[in-house]
Parts: sequence; structure tokens; C-alpha cells
Amino acid sequence: MLLLVIAGVAGAQGQVASPDQFLGYPLGSRFTPHYKIVSYMYQVARQAPDRVKVEAYGQTNEGRPLLLVYVASRENFSRLEAVRSNNLRLAGLLKDSAASEVMPAIVWLSYNVHGNEPSSSEAAMLTLYELVNPVNEKSQAWLKNTIVIIDPCINPDGRERYVNWITQVEGRQPNARPIAREHSEPWPGGRTNHYNFDLNRDWAWQTQLETQQRMIKYNSWLPQVHVDFHEQGYNAPYYFAPAAEPFHDVITPWQREFQTTIGRNNARYFDQNGWLYFTKERFDLFYPSYGDTYPLYNGAIGMTYEQGGHSRGGLAVVTEDGDTLTLRDRLIHHYTTGMSTIEMTSQNAARLVKEFHTYYTNAVQNPGGEFKNYVFKDDGTDKLNRLKVLLNRNNIKWAYSAGTSLAGFNYFTGKTELFKTDGHDVVVNAAQPKSNLLRVLFERISRLSDSATYDITAWSVPFAYGIKTYGVKGPVGETAVGFMGYSVIRTPVENAYAWVAKWDGMNSARFLANLLRNGIKVRYAEQSFRVGNSEFDKGSLIVTRAANAAQGKYLEALVRAAADTSLTSLTPIPSGFVDKGFDLGSDKVRFIHPPKVALLAGNDVSSNAMGEIWHFFDQQLEYPITLINTEDIGRMNPADFNVLIVPDGYYSLFSTKESNELLKDWVRRGGKLIALEGAVAQMSRSDWGFKIKGSGDDKKEEPKKDDYNLLRKYENRERDFLVNSIPGSIFKVELDNSHPLAFGYGDSYYTLKQDDNIYEFLKDGWNVGVIKKDNYISGFAGSRVREKLKDGTLFGAMDMGRGSVVFLADNPLFRSFWENGKLLFCNAVFLVGQ
Ligand SMILES: [Zn+2]
Repeated sequence: MLLLVIAGVAGAQGQVASPDQFLGYPLGSRFTPHYKIVSYMYQVARQAPDRVKVEAYGQTNEGRPLLLVYVASRENFSRLEAVRSNNLRLAGLLKDSAASEVMPAIVWLSYNVHGNEPSSSEAAMLTLYELVNPVNEKSQAWLKNTIVIIDPCINPDGRERYVNWITQVEGRQPNARPIAREHSEPWPGGRTNHYNFDLNRDWAWQTQLETQQRMIKYNSWLPQVHVDFHEQGYNAPYYFAPAAEPFHDVITPWQREFQTTIGRNNARYFDQNGWLYFTKERFDLFYPSYGDTYPLYNGAIGMTYEQGGHSRGGLAVVTEDGDTLTLRDRLIHHYTTGMSTIEMTSQNAARLVKEFHTYYTNAVQNPGGEFKNYVFKDDGTDKLNRLKVLLNRNNIKWAYSAGTSLAGFNYFTGKTELFKTDGHDVVVNAAQPKSNLLRVLFERISRLSDSATYDITAWSVPFAYGIKTYGVKGPVGETAVGFMGYSVIRTPVENAYAWVAKWDGMNSARFLANLLRNGIKVRYAEQSFRVGNSEFDKGSLIVTRAANAAQGKYLEALVRAAADTSLTSLTPIPSGFVDKGFDLGSDKVRFIHPPKVALLAGNDVSSNAMGEIWHFFDQQLEYPITLINTEDIGRMNPADFNVLIVPDGYYSLFSTKESNELLKDWVRRGGKLIALEGAVAQMSRSDWGFKIKGSGDDKKEEPKKDDYNLLRKYENRERDFLVNSIPGSIFKVELDNSHPLAFGYGDSYYTLKQDDNIYEFLKDGWNVGVIKKDNYISGFAGSRVREKLKDGTLFGAMDMGRGSVVFLADNPLFRSFWENGKLLFCNAVFLVGQ
């Protein structure tokens, strides 16, 4: 049957326990808990200590270990570190001595990034076993020139959420009927990590704990081949690369060619077994934060493998063609492609190493793209520090600029302009090992025409981070290579009438959150003001001694601690009398009632959207938040909360008059409701005072009778759909920054638009963020969508009784990497309606 024979029990000399022996049940006959997968990895390392090593590289949010397992021949095993160092020399990232092209190739296999795609971690155990099984002559031969690194489970928390659940609902025998509850996973499902982040969207941004820890290891190895194992709907045949168009154009002909080489070898095994599969469709290579694109943009051959069965597969399920698909089938398929990939790597090891070397040599000597340098301007906020973190995490070299005058392409205006740099500005030179990755991250226009893609098509870092950026075609003077220096002036917290801090970014928000958590009373200035030589902008935070008498002698220490941990500069001022603007006692200096925040969760809510907000409060702001299931909202004591956040979702709450009235009543009595994305669209249909554009009586779309455009061809149906599609593009939003919802911003913001919802200008409220004409910046947006997205509101605020409603039609916290939206969200939570 299988050509890649599973060699069975090892002979006497091997003494490595097979998964079946170790687990006490046939692999695939039940789901293996994560701790047993971990134990098996260590067991094999103990039994083959001269060929296998386990390295714990971190922990998940829920405290589970993250592991890498290194597998090599005895000879290569004794020089793993030398191979790793040499590989970094090939990549130009280590320059202590000359690189050698004579070295083994490195394959990295990543399993179970999506927790409810569980067959892959089961396959990881069998793969490890067959790599060390001395009876398996093939694998022993492959390891002569190939080192295998196995990450048996990238997302243990998600996997355990799935496995714990399915183990509870399985009977003595699996029930293969799709209707059975074991094929219907409860909210939020096991796909994501603890905070409901999709770890297969996080490779470049590294906002999540698991990714941050893993990428340190990944970037210290940089394998030649990487495989990301997934599962898809259980009726789908197996998918493996070669991938679908669009390919990003930094992907080299060699990378395309070798994807196909591996794909053909996979196909050979699938053909022999009569298994169905497909290639070149659906899974494209564009968005840079996947487990295939990120490795590709870092010189590897990045592969995605998709088995049918995610979430609903159970131990066995009847598919639409009447066959029964079992967990055993699924793991054997993943095992087969994993081994086939190692086989092809071994057969082409010398070529892979050589091409890897060439890739990085070209990256340094002939970087592609329009610009030789990128200059990121320092605006005095913490944005540039956040950019430096991103660069460091991806091993992208940067430097501080030498003060000079240059001509460069201004990302925000779209024009070439003269500009000056100074020593705080950051320069990234494209001629460096990571030039392809940095080009993908910084390019203004995603190189994608009218085409279908699986994900957003625009992520340009200057817009996501809100940093004024110039692309420069010539050299830029640099000073020493950048280091992670924070330019915060630590003002001693001396005896003062009050202390003032700017409101201009996440550090300000963390400072405020810390103060409020400690019971310190804070005000914010509604207008800019000046004391002596110090100018303070709208939104500046003010802590007066008088209002905080209760803190007594601890006040200074508390304020100083809050400023230090949030890297915030403080200015002490001696008097409540200001030289320009309103005195500190004016009612234009607003008291910030500490938000008591509730966040809706549960079946009606998008788990990703909820997770982003939960993670934001819990991990980034460190401010308390209460998650409430939507069905419990009727039991919420209005006095316990004054802010209710309604994330993207589809709510039964907004479908009845009674529950709409209940919520409105809570708002009228002083509550603040913050609604996002789909929740806004739903509320617009229930008389909340704002109206979606293009909904009701808009008749102009009515086609003419003789419109031959109606005669669409059936085979073009997927492409025709694109005129109405918007997978995620960047639009410029014009801001009314005199409203607290836009404090800390200039007159514009760049939003990631993922739908075509836009709202009519509010008559009884504040249109704080609007799209006018010609505000499209980048990414794919179908022709009809682009026509629609103009002259409407995206971010608005309204008073209602004693309370207020804030709506954010786009997601300002998208995957937690849209850094520039975070302050907007904080404005909604802390400043609006005070
Ligand atoms: Zn997946």
C-alpha cells in the first residue's frame, strides 16, 4: 500500500518506542492530549540521544510548553551548532568567517498552528518515529544530508481547547454522521490561541506570545524548507503547494520551481494510493504573515499542506461522496507529505543550500524594489519605538539618520519631495539580508491587480503604524547601526501643583490606565494650552495634587511609577493658572470618570474581534475588563459598568425592539456604548441614529434593460464577483481632531477597510472620521466598492440622554498590528463622553 512504509516496530538495536507502543493505543484511534505529545518527544530524545534533541523554547499563555525537536544523523547531530552558524553565514547574518556551501539542508516542519486542525500533531509523532527508526532505510539515508526540525504543536492552548471538548463528547464509538454534536465545535473553537488570535496571521507582526518566542528560534536557524500543516473542510481533498496566484513578485523562480518539485513528489505518493488532491488553487502567496509566505520572504521554500477534517472531522465523518474519513486517514496523509518533503529536500540538498546562499547574496547586492532606503520620521511620539521593535523582531537592520537634506517619495502625499532628516529618524537600507521581507512590509502599493486572494491585500507598515515615511532612491547618510534606545526624558517628579503628560500614543494610554487602576484622579485638556515655555496639545493628561490628596505622601511615587513603566515623560507645573488656554480648574479640563468596561463575548460575537479587544486590555493596556456573554446582558447591573464594547458579530440582541430599547435605556442613563464593524451595520437598521449608505431607497443601481453586462459567463463567476469585493485595503480617513475621539492625531488616519460599509453623515452627532472623494490608497478594492466608498462617515460619536454612542465602522485593532488605530480606540474608551 504505502510506498513510504511505516516500518513497524524497531528491531532490538533501535529501542525507540513507536507512538502506538508509547501511547497504548493505535495512533489516530483517539486524540492525544498535548502533554502526551510532549512526553513522547522527550521519550524519543531519551531513547535516541545521539540523534534527537528536544528544546523547550517557551510557554503559552496557559502555561503549556512549546518545543522544537531536532533530528539528524549521528554525524550531523554532533555539529548542529556549527551547521546553524554556517547557515547564518550563508544568509549574511553572521560575518565571523567565510560561509561554506557544503552543509546539510534544513527542513522545518510546523504542526497544528490551528488548534482544531488536530491530525497534524498526531502525524508529528509518527514522523519523528520514522525518522529515527533504524528499520526505515530511506529516512536513515535522507538524514545523511538533511537536518529536520519539528515543532510538534505551535498552538497547544488551541489544540487542548479542541481535544478536551471532543474527548468529552465522543461515545464508545465515534459517530460519523455529520449532524452528530461531535462535529459541531462550540464557540470560540480551538483554531486560535488563548486570546483568540489566529497564529497563522502573526508571523511578521509577532503580536502573540507563541509567535514571539518561536520567531527568535526561527530567525536563528532560517531553514531551506518550511512546511505549515493545516486542515480544511472535511469534504475537501488534500491540498499541497504549488500555490495559487497571486504570488508576490519577490518570490523567486527557484522558489516557485522547487514548490512544484516537492508538489510532484507528494502527488506521486497520492497517485499510488489513489488519494484525491488539488494544487495551484485557493491558497495564494501574498499576505506576509503566513507559515508559507513568511518563510518564502526569508529565503526558504514555504509550503502549506491542507488535509480535510478541521473542526468538524472528529474521529470519523461521512463525507459528501459517502466515504468515511478517519483521523487515522488524515494523519497518514500529513505523515506522507511530510516525509515526501524531507525526501525531496535530501535529493536536492546541495542545490537548496546553494540557492539559499544565492538568494541572500542577491538580497544584499541587488535588492529589488523601487527604493534603496526608507526613512521613517520621528514625530516625538512612541510610534518609532514600536517600529524598532518590529524591525528587531524580524532581524531587519536599521540605523539612525545623519542629519541631511534629501529628495524622497512621501508615502502620505504620494509625491516626491525635498525633506530634512535628523538624528532621531530611522533609516532602513534595502541592501541587507532581509531585503525581500522589508520590501514586502514597507511597499506602498501591494503588487496585485484584479485577482482573488485569501486575505487582506494591504498592510504597508507606514500606514499601519502611522509613521511619515520617505522612499529614497539614492544613499542616505547613516550613523551607527541602530540600537533599541528609548528617548524618554525622565523628569524628576518634584513637588508640583500638577503634572502633565502628552496624549499621543499607546504609552500615554498605558500611563493613564496605570493611574486609574491605582485610584489616581486624572483630567484631560479639551483645548491646547501653554504654561511658560511648555505647550500642551488637546488631550494632555493632568494629575493635580489637590484632587489626589487622598494618596498623601504616596502620590509622587505612584505617578512616577506609572510614568516609568509606560515610558512617559512628565512635566511638573507650578500653578493652575495657565499662560494660554484654559486654567486647570476650567470645565474645558474634563475629569476622566474611570471606565468600568464590559465586553460582549459568546456565540453572537466574532471571536477574533473579541480576542483582539480582550488582549488589548489584558496584555497591552493592563486595564480591567469584564467579558460578558451576550445572553447574560439582561442580568448586567447597569451601575457596575459605564462602558460596553460590542465587537464585530451578528447579534440577536439587535433584532428585537425590546432588547434594542433595553440597551438604549442603559445608554440614556449614562452608559457609553462602543460598537465596531458588523455591530455598527446591524445597529444602523434599528434606529440608533445612524444610517448605512446604499441601503434603502437607493435606486440608481437598477440595471438598464439593454445592459449586456448582465450576460455574464458562468466560467467567469469567481472573477465577476471581484468588482464587489474588498479583501482589505487602505483608505485615508479625514479626521475632526477637535473631537476627543481623534485627540492625539493629525488631520488624517489610514484605515484598513474590509467591507464596503459606510454611513451617511450624522445629523445629530459628530462625524469624526469621514471618507471623502479619492481617498483610496492601496490594496485591492473592486471597482464598484471604490465607487461606493466616498462621502460618508466611518467613525462617529453621538450623545444619547446622559450617555453616548461611539461607532467605529472599521477595526482599529486589526490583528493587533494596526498600531496607529490603538489610540483611536483608547480615545473611545477613556475620553469620549466625559
Ligand atoms: Zn489552518
